[in-house]
Amino acid sequence: MEGRVRQCFWGIAHRCLDFLYPRYCIFCLQNIQTTDSLHICESCRHELLPRDSMSSCQRCGFSKKNDAQPGVSSLMKGTRCSHCWNRKFLFSNTKCLWNFQGLPREWIHKLKYHDGEYLVADLGKILVRNSEWREYLSSAILVPVPLHWRRYWQRDYNQSNLIARAMAKVSGSSVTSLLSRCKFSQSQTELRGHERFRNVQNAFSLNCKAKNIDRNYRIILVDDVMTTGATLQACATVLWENGFKHIDVATLARG
Ligand SMILES: [Zn+2]
Ligand SMILES: [Zn+2]
Repeated sequence: MEGRVRQCFWGIAHRCLDFLYPRYCIFCLQNIQTTDSLHICESCRHELLPRDSMSSCQRCGFSKKNDAQPGVSSLMKGTRCSHCWNRKFLFSNTKCLWNFQGLPREWIHKLKYHDGEYLVADLGKILVRNSEWREYLSSAILVPVPLHWRRYWQRDYNQSNLIARAMAKVSGSSVTSLLSRCKFSQSQTELRGHERFRNVQNAFSLNCKAKNIDRNYRIILVDDVMTTGATLQACATVLWENGFKHIDVATLARG
């Protein structure tokens, strides 16, 4: 009963606030009527629903629809695809919320390059409704991919840290920044394939927060986008070399 009264109170409060300060969708600028999302309208929100996990590779998250080698993908069905069958990734599973295109791509750009810290509240609302995601993120330590201090100074926040915190809130897992970025490297978006792996080689190190952490814990590396997997592999290598053997990955999108 108490819960219903509280729900009713917040419903009225939201309606009053919406009357005084109307909210508009960040994508299509339509007036937002729903309380399910703070910055995205009903129809745009539909395009931000989690993608079907059955249509992607369990190990690297690559969308099987984008698989360029159909013969190989059918052979590798299950845990590996043509993108990762010959890669020695040190993480076992990868879960990505969206494919890196359309509105998800725009959403991530706003988050990263347009002071989009405020958008993370909507991410929590998307994740909390998906039991598959809540289960995947539970019973783990979420480790955001760190930014170099120079990049952090420019942006004022680490988007991976914000994403990890939203993920922790819906799953009950904790966020611990076990890694530091010790090398300032060129942005990965300007590079291709093997250049990306070389660019982030030795870019990360384990920091003092890892000292008392049980090495048997499951670690989930959190980043905004996975493209070749070079950054996540560089992070996983540091964790692996320091005794963590149960490493998974969660990102917002898969390129
Ligand atoms: Zn919209
Ligand atoms: Zn794969």
